[in-house]
Amino acid sequence: MLDGRAIAEQIKIELREDTARLWQEHQVRPCLVAVRVGEDPASAVYVRNKVRAFEEMGMRSEHQALAATTPTADLIKIIATLNARDDVDGILVQLPLPKGMDEAAVIESVDPAKDVDGFHPANVARLAMGRPGFVPCTPAGIVALLDRSGITIEGANACVVGRSQIVGRPVAQLLLQRDATVTICHSRTRQLSEVTRQADILLAAIGRPGFIRGEHIKPGATVIDVGINRLTDTDAAQSLFGPEAGERLVAIKQRGYTLVGDVHPAEANAVAGALTPVPGGVGPLTIAMLLRNTIHAARLRRGLTS
Ligand code: NAP
Repeated sequence: MLDGRAIAEQIKIELREDTARLWQEHQVRPCLVAVRVGEDPASAVYVRNKVRAFEEMGMRSEHQALAATTPTADLIKIIATLNARDDVDGILVQLPLPKGMDEAAVIESVDPAKDVDGFHPANVARLAMGRPGFVPCTPAGIVALLDRSGITIEGANACVVGRSQIVGRPVAQLLLQRDATVTICHSRTRQLSEVTRQADILLAAIGRPGFIRGEHIKPGATVIDVGINRLTDTDAAQSLFGPEAGERLVAIKQRGYTLVGDVHPAEANAVAGALTPVPGGVGPLTIAMLLRNTIHAARLRRGLTS
C-alpha cells in the first residue's frame, strides 16, 4: 500500500519551512480564497478540508459560499475582485459548478498568476508545451506520490484510464514529460483490459466504484486509484472488500456511505505490486499540492526566489 497520508505529511513539513521563511524574510503569508457555489455535499467537504489545511500551515484562507442560483456574471465579478486584491495569492473555484453555469467562462476569468488549480487555458497550454506554470493539484500529487515511493516513471508504460481536464489529461502530460510511454483510455477504448494490462503504472480516474478489476492489472504493476466515490450499498461494499469489509459496513450504517475508489481493492491487492488506498492515497496529496501551488504563487507574484 502506498501511504499517501504519510507522504503528504512529509511534504507539509517541508512546506511549513517554506512558509516560515516567507514570513521571516519577507513578511508574506500566502492566502487562498476558495469559492464554492451551491450545496454539493462532497464539494463542501473538499473545501472545508482545504481551508483547514491552510489554517494548520499558518497560511491564510477565505471561504466564499454562494447560492446555487448565482448568475455566472456575478461569479465572474467576484473573481475579478479577487484578481485585483493584492493580499490574495490563489483563487480556487470548487468544481463542478451547478448545472447551467458557464464553467469555461468562470475558469478563464481567474488571473492565470493566481490559478493555483492549474485549470486556466494559459496554464493548460504551458503544461502541454512543457513550460513552467501551475499544474493541477491531483496530477501533481500523483507524480509526487510515485517519486517519493521510489517508483520509476522514466521508460515505464503508463496507462491513464480517464481523460478529464482535471485528472486524466494533465496527469498524462506530466508522465509524458517525465519520459513515460503514455496511453490514455476512455469510455470508447476497445478491449480495455488488454490495453491496461500492458501498464507498469496504471492510473484510474473514472468515477466508477471498483471498475478496474484484477483482469485489468499486470501482475506487479503500480496502481494509482484516483477515484473518490460514495458507496451506499452494503452488498457492493462486501464484494469490493471481502473479509476486510467490516469497517466499511459500519461506516455505511453510521453515516450512510463509505468512500471507495475506481479500483476493486480486494482484486487489485492480489495482483498489483503497489496500490493506493481510498481514502488515504491520492486525496491527501491533492491538498498538499494546493498548498505548494499557493506558496509558489505568493513567491512568483512578488518576484521572490526564496
Ligand atoms: P470525469 O470528468 O467524470 O471523467 C471520467 C473519465 O472516465 C472520462 O474520461 C470517461 O471517458 C472515463 N470513463 C467513464 N466510463 C469509462 C469506461 N467504462 N471505460 C473507460 N473509461 C471510462 O471524472 P474526473 O473528474 O476525472 O474524476 C474521476 C474520479 O476521480 C472521480 O471518482 C473523482 O471523484 C475522483 N477525483 C479524485 C481526486 C482526488 O483528489 N483524489 C481529484 C479529482 C477527482 P469519456 O471521456 O469517454 O466519457
